Amino acid sequence: MMPKSPRIWQLAERRYRLLGSKCTVCGKTSVGPRSVCPICNSEKIETIQLPSTGTIYSYTVVHALPAEKSGYGPYIMAIVELEDGTKLTAEIVDCEPEDVKIGMPVELAFRLIGQESEHGIIYYGYKFRPIISRT
Ligand SMILES: [Zn+2]
Repeated sequence: MMPKSPRIWQLAERRYRLLGSKCTVCGKTSVGPRSVCPICNSEKIETIQLPSTGTIYSYTVVHALPAEKSGYGPYIMAIVELEDGTKLTAEIVDCEPEDVKIGMPVELAFRLIGQESEHGIIYYGYKFRPIISRT
């Protein structure tokens, strides 16, 4: 079942923007809607637009596939550090597991909207793909 999210987030999904939350007290940024800062428990949270590009901070190639992904093949889960320093976990697409590198520049690529994982509900179907240098 899809979570009920405030209208602004639904609009964000349609516009292919990555919105985040910023604590105005300590400056912590995170992806998706929050009402309380995970660092300082402040409720002074503002909605910000996150950068759509970043680099791969770390990654794991996932070989053990859950049943719903059978036939999908190994996939790459990475921690991406956005241009403003916000870190998020996302799948890397359009990239072979043997080609992924730490520090690789990536850009936002929305694919699916709303899915559940063992970490909870993922509000956005955001994924990232390598930025191909256009030289
Ligand atoms: Zn805070």
